[in-house]
Amino acid sequence: MWQRRAKHCPLCAAALVQGALEGRARVHCSVCSFVLYENPAAASAGLVLDGERRVLLVRRAIEPFRGRWALPAGYQEIDEEPAQTAVREVREESGIEVEVLSLHDLIFVPEDLRRPANVAIYLCRPVGGRLQAGEDALEAAWFGLDALPLDLAFDNGPRILDRLRRSLP
Ligand SMILES: [Zn+2]
Repeated sequence: MWQRRAKHCPLCAAALVQGALEGRARVHCSVCSFVLYENPAAASAGLVLDGERRVLLVRRAIEPFRGRWALPAGYQEIDEEPAQTAVREVREESGIEVEVLSLHDLIFVPEDLRRPANVAIYLCRPVGGRLQAGEDALEAAWFGLDALPLDLAFDNGPRILDRLRRSLP
C-alpha cells in the first residue's frame, strides 16, 4: 500500500515514522499529531437479475482474479452515493442500465492486497442498455443461477450467489 512508502507528513512535511499507537503499528508524523490511518476502500457491486432469473457477470480484465467471472463492481468516487457507484459500474462494465432495488449485502473483500475494500452489493434489475463488455471487462454475459461459471473470482462470489439462490422462492 502507498501508505507504507510515504516518507513525509502531508500536513507539516516532517518525517513520518512507524510506531505503536492505539495498540497497532501505525505510521505517524514525528513532529505534529498526524496519523496515517489505513482504512479499507469503499466499493459497490451490482447483483443484476433479469426476468428469467439470470445474473449478470463480467470477466475481469484486471487483477486480482484477471480472467475470472465476477459481479460488475468498482470503487466509489468521492462524490457518489454507493448505489450510484453500482449503477455506474454495471453500465461501464457491461453496457446494461439498471435500477437499484435494495441493498443485498455488505462484505469485506481483502483479496486485493493493495486495497482491501468494503463492498456494498446492490440487488438491481435491468431497465435498458445493450450487453457489451466495457474497459474493465473481457466479456459480459447472463448466467442462469443453476449454470454459473466455475471460475468465479473472489471467495465471495459463491457466497453471494448461494445466498441469493436460497433467498429466492
Ligand atoms: Zn506532521
